[in-house]
Amino acid sequence: MLAVQLKPEDEVLPRIFRKRLFIFECLGCQEVYFPRQEVEKFIESLENEITAKVAIDYLCNRDFVREYVKAYSSQIKQAELILVFSCGVGAQVLCSLLEDRIVYTGCNTLYLNGFQGLSVQNFDCRQCGQCYLNLTGGICPLANCAKGLLNGPCGGAKDGKCEANPEADCAWELIYKRLKRLGKLDLLRKSLSVRDYSLIMKSET
Ligand code: SF4
Ligand code: SF4
Repeated sequence: MLAVQLKPEDEVLPRIFRKRLFIFECLGCQEVYFPRQEVEKFIESLENEITAKVAIDYLCNRDFVREYVKAYSSQIKQAELILVFSCGVGAQVLCSLLEDRIVYTGCNTLYLNGFQGLSVQNFDCRQCGQCYLNLTGGICPLANCAKGLLNGPCGGAKDGKCEANPEADCAWELIYKRLKRLGKLDLLRKSLSVRDYSLIMKSET
């Protein structure tokens, strides 16, 4: 159960400018906080061509979402960019199913104190409040890198495995491979903004 907010318009609009869109919206965690009206209003305000828009219960359920991806494959193919409104888990699930497509998340996942329930998938979101997935090929550097590094690898990986956990793939090697596959390696030249830890502290007060 996660809570999300819409990313600021000046962050989203330049990235989707004049792109033909396919839109996914998650309805799963509305009982926590999903700004549905705000999201709908934002979508209505877009001048982009939209090949289709689907609202799904629990975008974090990979098997369920795979069926939607199959059912809408032609509309997804026609789109230049996939825009998703969900928490970081849902966005990562979608990215993993559409590895050759650029998936852009329109939301930040907010920090919530306490236990958030059990998850049914292998994707995690640390609720950082300033989602980086649009710059990392849809792989969360906070949840997947043992050191939570935001600006590239530590250099300790061996044969693609993490130096802190040889059982796990190095997240930054995965990010590099995903961005290369998407033709988006230029994103690695951008420094990711310094993490704003006050977003967590504000939630705890
Ligand atoms: S960058 Fe990771 S932790 Fe932050 S909101 Fe996105 S998925 Fe969650
Ligand atoms: S080896 Fe990779 S995943 Fe492990 S801490 Fe270093 S950068 Fe992060």
